[in-house]
Amino acid sequence: MYEFIVNMPKAELHLHLEGSINSTTLIKLAKRNNSEFPYQTTEEIENALANRPPGLQGFLDHHYERVLVLQKQLDFFETTYELVKTCKVNNIKYLELFFDPQFHTARGISFDDIIMGIDEGRKKGFLDFGVEVNLIMCINRERTISSGFEMLEQAKPHKDKIIGLGLDSYEENNPPHKYTDVYAQAKKEGYRLTAHCDVDMKNSTRNIWECLEILDVERIDHGINSIEDPKLVQELVRRKICLTTCPIKRPCDPQPQDIDRIREMVNLGLCVTLNTDDPPEFETGYLSNLLYLVQQASHYSKNDMVQFMRNAFDGSWLQMDAKNKYIEALLEYAESHGVN
Ligand SMILES: [Zn+2]
Repeated sequence: MYEFIVNMPKAELHLHLEGSINSTTLIKLAKRNNSEFPYQTTEEIENALANRPPGLQGFLDHHYERVLVLQKQLDFFETTYELVKTCKVNNIKYLELFFDPQFHTARGISFDDIIMGIDEGRKKGFLDFGVEVNLIMCINRERTISSGFEMLEQAKPHKDKIIGLGLDSYEENNPPHKYTDVYAQAKKEGYRLTAHCDVDMKNSTRNIWECLEILDVERIDHGINSIEDPKLVQELVRRKICLTTCPIKRPCDPQPQDIDRIREMVNLGLCVTLNTDDPPEFETGYLSNLLYLVQQASHYSKNDMVQFMRNAFDGSWLQMDAKNKYIEALLEYAESHGVN
């Protein structure tokens, strides 16, 4: 099974560039940029990871401490290139990658530096490793609406490099409808739309409804609480909305999170994908490892694992012909392993 999963052609739709910097690179960048990074060694970083307070708040507070090391165009280039290389090792053929411009522009880094670095990293990564990457810029939902509009404006000259708009970060007290006008504008400009509805937030199901009815998204990131509302499930199925779940595992967890709820989502006919979110910040790590841990915990068959991956290609924002090409290769792989 492990070998089958490692070699399976993959797609991933929920992975944050800023959450993909490994400990060695963090130390390297912190030294190079002389930044106020609070850790001196990889052990100290691992220790901080293991002792994060639980929940989204504890995760994000530590996460943003790490992201401070990203300062120059070269940093964005290197981290993107490094990530694409790791995708190759995991046999990821296609990636839709989130990045958070506002966290950087608020620190005085120009949008141009951010996007040029990331774009060069993914282009060189494609040439060297054959992994295709599309970019999704995310609104940090705790920031102001005008800051969201500002980001759209800064992105204008780079529209050709960015496929979609997302919404992430501190969810509590920042419901999706806060960004109604920014999403309407982004849609007008031709961006594809998705938004995070994190797990077990105060108004999780209401937030998912808002994403559908008000923001008009095509995907939901996480969205596990949808199973609590049968009408919502019906609507997600009817609209063929893909939900990018992240059954990550922290050192204190016995197994990947939400195994049972993800199974229920599948049984209800939802289009579910499995994703790593912020790989070095969780024990699940990168996609091959996460898929294997989920398979072991859930006893999914090879057929089930292929279906998860088919959902990822299906739910991606690739053009139809490219999507079909990847799915064909996936099905050929499955067939050559006796999975039909
Ligand atoms: Zn995420």
